[in-house]
Amino acid sequence: MGSHQDSVIEGGKYDGMLGVALPLLALEALKREGVTLPFGVEVVAFGDEEGVRFPTTLVGSKALAGNVTPDQLEAQDAEGISLREALIAFGCTPEDIPATAREPANTLGFLEVHIEQGPILEQRDHAVGIVTALTGIERHKVTLSGKAGHAGTTPMNMRHDALVGAAEMVLAIDSVLQNTDELVGVVGRLDVHPNAVNVIPAQVTFTVELRSPESATRQYGREAVTAALETVAKRRGLTINIENTYSADAVACADWMMTALEQACTQIGQPAERMFSGAGHDGLAMQALTDIGMLFVRCKEGLSHHPDEAITAEDGEAATRVVMAFLQQLPRP
Ligand SMILES: [Zn+2]
Repeated sequence: MGSHQDSVIEGGKYDGMLGVALPLLALEALKREGVTLPFGVEVVAFGDEEGVRFPTTLVGSKALAGNVTPDQLEAQDAEGISLREALIAFGCTPEDIPATAREPANTLGFLEVHIEQGPILEQRDHAVGIVTALTGIERHKVTLSGKAGHAGTTPMNMRHDALVGAAEMVLAIDSVLQNTDELVGVVGRLDVHPNAVNVIPAQVTFTVELRSPESATRQYGREAVTAALETVAKRRGLTINIENTYSADAVACADWMMTALEQACTQIGQPAERMFSGAGHDGLAMQALTDIGMLFVRCKEGLSHHPDEAITAEDGEAATRVVMAFLQQLPRP
């Protein structure tokens, strides 16, 4: 069991650390009650989940899964210090990383407790939720070319304004997202050229990110977005180029772990609804080693990566009791 101990700049107290501290409380309480488990439990605090300092992510969980490659250690921070150098300066021995890898045959599963980082549990008035999958993500760069021109002398009906086209496309993408279940996305970045007060924008590039726990849904979203963008481009006489820049498949939580979490919730009188995670977590790396399961805990106003991030003591206790019940009913390895 575990989560990450690193945070983002100006982050909160619970993203990550809840999943490190809470299992310790659960194990302590089980010990106090005299419960012995038929398997060993390790609680792990990963580093570098957020990828704040280095252009890497999930290095801690990748190490446990045996998937840290030497080139990942050469990633550099903004000051040109490599991850390898930073680890040595911190007192670590990078050569020992391969030895931290666990044996798949000796590993039953990985459970992570994490704040939801979203508003769904609060809306449902549930303390905890059972995660079905960690979302798949794809990103695209859209380049839209029109024609620059004098903003005073070119008649409106003769313009090929790339920014007006882009504006319409952002709305078209939003409409696809609003109307598709289990699909979320964003146009998060937009660059206008020449970006001048009196020139018709000749070129706009913008990003589209799509997330879904279901590959088929993400594919549907991609096709619907592409079709909508091409329609707008054609109508406005703009040239469009869509380039896929990143994609990572969704990772499903193990059925047996979802069922065990559900039974644990029922046993302690908590509602047990399933939900997907729109954010990535250490489970993305851990699934290469073993089955994964995740328990979300309600957080105040769904707020995360913010100093006001908060949970209640009652929800923390409910989650601890779920973990205790979960551990006691797992199948004997
Ligand atoms: Zn986190």
